[in-house]
Amino acid sequence: MQYKIALLRGDGIGPEIVDSAVEVLDKIAARFGHEFQYESYLIGGSAIDACGEPLPKETVEGCLASDSVLLGAVGGPKWDTLPGNLRPEKALLGIRAALGLFTNLRPAKLYHALREECPLRADIVERGFDMMIVRELTGGIYFGERGMRVGKYGEEAFDTECYSRMEIERIARVAFEAARKRRGNLISIDKANVLETSRLWRKVVHEIALEYSDVSCADMLVDNAAMQLVRNPAQFDVVVTSNMFGDILSDEASQITGSIGMLPSASLGEGTRGMYEPIHGSAPDIAGQNKANPIATILSAAMMLRYSFALADEADAIEQAVDRVLAAGWRTADLAHGGAPPLTTKEMTQKILAELGE
Ligand code: NAD
Repeated sequence: MQYKIALLRGDGIGPEIVDSAVEVLDKIAARFGHEFQYESYLIGGSAIDACGEPLPKETVEGCLASDSVLLGAVGGPKWDTLPGNLRPEKALLGIRAALGLFTNLRPAKLYHALREECPLRADIVERGFDMMIVRELTGGIYFGERGMRVGKYGEEAFDTECYSRMEIERIARVAFEAARKRRGNLISIDKANVLETSRLWRKVVHEIALEYSDVSCADMLVDNAAMQLVRNPAQFDVVVTSNMFGDILSDEASQITGSIGMLPSASLGEGTRGMYEPIHGSAPDIAGQNKANPIATILSAAMMLRYSFALADEADAIEQAVDRVLAAGWRTADLAHGGAPPLTTKEMTQKILAELGE
């Protein structure tokens, strides 16, 4: 099969880790008889430097003309003082909206080989965890009306949250489907004791639950969820939540897996095209030093094969290769503590390629 992949390398470590994922994809193409065609487009700070805006029109058009998109990361101190609409991060919201990507899937699992990296108590680590966070991506407070004004006490700022029934229904269905393919448990996280949007969220999720009698569904308040994630993460299978709650909780979940350098993500819309990216940022402190852990981006490429191209065997092959490399004790600097010197980005990529065979 032939697939067109748009590469958005972005800033900081973005180019290094995307190049690692491309090497892995090329190996998969050779082994399984596929052809991946790549086109590169500018995004973030590098786009600001080249053409004065973080998300050029050509980038959006190029992504729309592709079967899928692989993104590194955007941002860095060089662009931190620019006004909000010119910040590299603005490009992320823009490209998600342009591609209609309303679902963000963030798996967070504790690798057996990385148990020592988990900051939780030994008995919690012993039980392990493997969850999928389904975050609504194009609605809620990040996209609501916002502004500055002068109020009774002087300067004020406001952001508003709005969710429509349609937005809740479609993300709930994605989550129920995901739960059906996993262990059949869904927890919907909201703040229904305070927020009107959460009360609608809860009502609609309960209605959709009637269509999925094979999936068990429970509600959890977001403050309790933040606590349960560190108290008993094994209880979570699939979690569905709003844009802002998902943003915060998925970072918390990433931290208990050991390293932010391990976690992939997929952003999906109605069709098969998705955008795949590591959950970490551009790591300016280690950019250009061949030190970044490429695994989150390589696993993001595996998610692309699974979710956009329905190539499950190929995705399994990548995930198993990563498992074997970690089990053999190979570590990049973010995972290495004493012992053998850590692998560079390129060396880790080579180890994974070697596990994928000739
Ligand atoms: P970050 O995720 O870039 O880095 C946090 C820490 O984790 C740093 O010490 C970094 O070196 C380390 N780290 C991150 N990824 C790593 C990897 N693959 N291997 C090894 N170590 C890794 O977060 P930050 O420092 O808060 O943000 C840096 C920049 O990235 C900012 O401009 C921020 O806005 C941007 N950002 C972009 C995205 C995105 O593109 N999706 C997401 C988050 C942050």
